[in-house]
Amino acid sequence: MSAETAGLARPAALRPLLDLVLTALEAGAQHRGGPLPPGGPELIAGQTRLALSIQHDQDALLRLTEFLAFGTADPADPACAAHLHCPPLALAVAADLAVSALNPSLDSWDQAPAATGMETALIAELAELVGFDPAAAAGVLTTGGTESNLMGLLLARDQVLGGEVALDGLPPGVRPVILASEAAHFSVQRAAALLGLGERAVRTVRVDRELRMDPAALAGELRAAVRAGQRPIAVVATAGTTDTGAVDPLHPAAELAAEHGAWLHVDAAYGGGALLSDRLAPLLDGIARADSVSLDWHKFGWQPAAAGVFLARRAESYGSLARRAAYLNPADDEQAGYPSLLGRSLRTTRRADAFKLLVTLRTLGRKGLGALVDACHDLALTTAGAVVAAGELELHCAPVLSTVVFRYRPAGAGPAELDRLNAELRRELLRAGRAVVGRTELPGTGPGRVRLKLTLLNPYATPADTGALLAAVRAAGQRVRGPGGEQG
Ligand SMILES: *Cc1c(COP(=O)(O)O)cnc(C)c1O
Repeated sequence: MSAETAGLARPAALRPLLDLVLTALEAGAQHRGGPLPPGGPELIAGQTRLALSIQHDQDALLRLTEFLAFGTADPADPACAAHLHCPPLALAVAADLAVSALNPSLDSWDQAPAATGMETALIAELAELVGFDPAAAAGVLTTGGTESNLMGLLLARDQVLGGEVALDGLPPGVRPVILASEAAHFSVQRAAALLGLGERAVRTVRVDRELRMDPAALAGELRAAVRAGQRPIAVVATAGTTDTGAVDPLHPAAELAAEHGAWLHVDAAYGGGALLSDRLAPLLDGIARADSVSLDWHKFGWQPAAAGVFLARRAESYGSLARRAAYLNPADDEQAGYPSLLGRSLRTTRRADAFKLLVTLRTLGRKGLGALVDACHDLALTTAGAVVAAGELELHCAPVLSTVVFRYRPAGAGPAELDRLNAELRRELLRAGRAVVGRTELPGTGPGRVRLKLTLLNPYATPADTGALLAAVRAAGQRVRGPGGEQG
């Protein structure tokens, strides 16, 4: 290698740096000693300022990596179980390093010859996994469910209202609405705003205790929308709600959407992982009736972020996103057989995020990944049983996928006190660097809705690990409550 190119990401230059990074990752994790660094935001902010105070230091990579590792909430620690934040597989991380080093960009074939073909092949495999005809479907890798939901609703708007909407905006007098459950992801509202429909264009549909959309309520909302002179353009069904993993009734959603000429978008950002498991895949029966689907392999798929996927059942529905950019996909190149993925994405420069997932699938297969999904599901069932068996803990509902929703509930505490106790005990565990437990609120109004959740995505965590986590929750609850209950 010449001196002039020594700084570029060639293997010879990378090897010693990688060694250093791995050393720093180990040192940082050891220094942390738990699922997250102790101390609250103020302490971490001070440590961050200190870490960044180095200037032109040869050791910046070592020192900052060590600090990053120290200051991380480590999803590989079994006590880090708050979010859909998975521990990535070593295999996938190594594959992603190859992508970083080579830096292919999928906006034109001449920046990514092999990656273009690999993404196309992965999209066909995933289309088949959800039950689409892979020859008719199309899709793209995305930054995640947020972008995929935006794409689904963009296609819904343009397909249902006509492609002119993409060019001229909404015609006067048309009031499009989107139907999604109260437990749907907030990115649905965000997408409605970005698409010029306004957040209030999302009509929310009632859910049951498990947070599944009530199909009778969906039918009622659709009728009410039509009566009010609104045009239902899309029904969003969630396959795996963020909080409980509940799967909306997909067949009724498909029937009702079709009855109203509306698009069906299935947000399977979490539940898509269930498709890998023979045991859990039947929960998503009906997903093949969707017009579009969101999947997220950086959740229930053990990929480093970002590994989102958007799928459309019919490639033609992509019409309004097609683009001809003279410098990227000239028509004569396409006629000469050079493929272009430019019109598949909202983005231009785009990382080869398909690669790590392909490496994972080719190594472990659907079966191997499915075994990891099953391990997390089993752990959730066992942990839910432990919640029920423990005193002072109350299970909200049986786990659907890999999430356990519960709360600390000492005898004699009223709804408002329970909310305060659960919120505070979670922060106490964070401050101590003991555990990262999720906190959410059930839909509705008034006190008594705060819940804790364990989102179990570590397939190597054990019932002993989650048992210790539940014991830590209870002990923190007792400390926060004090010996005298409310007065304590
Ligand atoms: C996480 C999640 C999203 C958002 O996905 P990102 O990858 O974070 O953008 C959307 N929908 C559901 C159901 C989710 O759980």
